[in-house]
This record gives sequence, C-alpha cells and structure tokens, in this order.
Amino acid sequence: MSKPTVGIFGLTGCAGDQLVILNCEDQLLDILGALDIRDFLMASSENDTECELDIAFVDGAVMSQRNEEDLKRIRERCGLLVAIGTCAVWGGIAAMDRNLDQKKLIQDIYGKMGKKLDITAARALHEVVKVDFNISGCPIEKEQVLNAISNLLNGNLPVLPEYAVCTECKVREYNCLLIEKGELCLGPMTVAGCNARCLELGIPCVGCRGPIDDANVESALALFQEKGFSQEDIVRKLRTFAPTPAAIQAE
Ligand code: SF4
Ligand code: SF4
Repeated sequence: MSKPTVGIFGLTGCAGDQLVILNCEDQLLDILGALDIRDFLMASSENDTECELDIAFVDGAVMSQRNEEDLKRIRERCGLLVAIGTCAVWGGIAAMDRNLDQKKLIQDIYGKMGKKLDITAARALHEVVKVDFNISGCPIEKEQVLNAISNLLNGNLPVLPEYAVCTECKVREYNCLLIEKGELCLGPMTVAGCNARCLELGIPCVGCRGPIDDANVESALALFQEKGFSQEDIVRKLRTFAPTPAAIQAE
C-alpha cells in the first residue's frame, strides 16, 4: 500500500504548531515511515510544491491576500485539510481585535509604509476554505498530532476531547482558582487536551485552546460576575485567543 502524501504548511503565525511536529523526535522516523511528506518548507528546502496531497496540515491564520491565495491553492491540492493550532482554527491572538479599524491600525503602526503592505484582518482557515478537521492549541499537543496521524492512516477522523479544561483540572484534584481564590479562569469554557497544564502550575487558564462547543456561557458569565469581574474584563479575557463564539456571546 502506498503511503499517503502529505504537506505541512504555515500561513501567518509563530509556526509553533509545525515545530511541535518536528519536535516529535522519538516518533519522527515512524512518521516518515508511514507518511510521504512531500511539501514541508520548515523541514526541507527541497519540496514538491505542485503535487496532489492526501492530507494537508495548515498552521497560522489568514492575514494577507497572499495567505488567502496560498490557502486556496493548498485546498485545491489536498483531499483532507487539517487546521493545526488556535490561529488556524480560530484566528488566534491576531484576531482578538479584528473588529477595529484595520486601516487605522496599520497606519498607526507602519505609517506611510503601511499602504504598501499586504495585510488583512486575521481570519481562521474555515472562514476562507472548507476545513475537514481542527486540532486547536497554542501550540497543539504532540499527543493529539500523533493520535490524528494514526487515525487518518486508518481512514478515521480523530476523536478529540469535547469536554472542558475544568474536567482535566478536577480529575487531577487541583484546587479551583476561580472558586477558592477568585481568579478569572477560563477553564469552564475552554476545550480540554492540555491536561490542565496551567492549573498544575497554579496559573489560571487563559483559553489558549479555544472554546468547547457547548459551553454554558451564560452560567459561566454569571459565576465570573459573582466573583467580581466586570463584563469588560471577561470579554477582554475571552477575546485573547480570537473573537470566539463565547466571546461574542459575552459582549
Ligand atoms: S475554573 Fe479553572 S481552576 Fe477551577 S476547576 Fe476549572 S480549570 Fe480548574
Ligand atoms: S490550561 Fe488553558 S491556557 Fe493553559 S494550556 Fe490549557 S487551555 Fe491553554
């Protein structure tokens, strides 16, 4: 059986999700044995930039006309398109204030030179092309990438957690920073998968993995407000990793 052809691409972002794949050091040889990676600029200067691909993994947000064209071209080339990382899935940090006047922002930062730059408001991949599967995280978790690759190799779509970070936090019996210390923790609305990493360190969750689908936003907002947080504080926190549905509902 021939190996599936794969491309791994980055649009605008820190490229951390591609790095997570490269950092799967103990599994890299197995990955290369199972996948025919044809196009991966971060890893190789020799790429086939035209071939058809069974699977494309795409990191980063769409933040320029060039990004949009590149993404549409990737979509044409691939069977399955997998968005990797919160920028690709939700727009990421760059999208937090995308409702502001973009022309003014570019002018304020780059002055006259801004007019010549190819910059557009940050968009998630699904706002531009059809996305078949999302792996969120800032960056993504190595285990979720490996899980996704092994499932895709077997013709299945991976199954990722649909519950909240609070569940992972409680399973590990960490003290609740929201209830016990009154800290603004987004664990109740954020999708699990990181093993409550920040809570292990005693730091509130800032929602870097994006929201769970069925978050009870009203109930969480009521709890945050009961703890003394203003709506402005809550919305600002919720928008940190993009204007997700929970952030928009809270406004
Ligand atoms: S609110 Fe934060 S600290 Fe409390 S259980 Fe949820 S994730 Fe843990
Ligand atoms: S606890 Fe929250 S902020 Fe920390 S890694 Fe997990 S999802 Fe991201």
